[in-house]
Amino acid sequence: MLSWDALEEECKTCQKCSLCETRTNVVFGRGSRNAEVLFIGEGPGEQEDLSGEPFVGRAGKLLDDMLSIIDLNRSNIFIANIVKCRPPKNRDPLNAEQDACIGHLRNQVALLRPKIIVCLGRIAAQKIIGGDFKISRDHGQWYERSGVQMMALYHPAALLRDPRRRPETFVDLKTLQAKIRELCTHTYD
Ligand code: SF4
Repeated sequence: MLSWDALEEECKTCQKCSLCETRTNVVFGRGSRNAEVLFIGEGPGEQEDLSGEPFVGRAGKLLDDMLSIIDLNRSNIFIANIVKCRPPKNRDPLNAEQDACIGHLRNQVALLRPKIIVCLGRIAAQKIIGGDFKISRDHGQWYERSGVQMMALYHPAALLRDPRRRPETFVDLKTLQAKIRELCTHTYD
């Protein structure tokens, strides 16, 4: 198995799909390499591409606020994406791009061995949890895949577009907090 540093280097030089041609930076992911909770979004946007960091800008600020509600922060979780290079004009990543990149994420999961995976938005949930996942119907529900507990939240960008979904997300966050207290050994408060 690759080390974290070797995996990061592999990602930074990756040319497995055409997104490498338009990226500014590969967004490898950020956080604790001992985290028990892994958050997965769909892919970098413009600000993330420019900075090389996941979830910056307004959606990133909202994600930080969501995390702080349940005593999480970027130091005690890890945040990654399905694709590590920005799709042009922030379009959804194509299936071929997701398939090309998913091996990097699998390697991150293998290194991290998280107890809980939280998908941010529809694209990540459909790729990671699978089935006929519908974010408006299935957010906040728990699924088990290969011994890992998984759930999905609305993507912070979706919550910026439609603040009426925020109360449901608050409930989902409290559900996540309860699961963390049940399964995780790190101290989060
Ligand atoms: S999106 Fe993933 S597979 Fe495509 S070039 Fe970037 S790192 Fe490689």
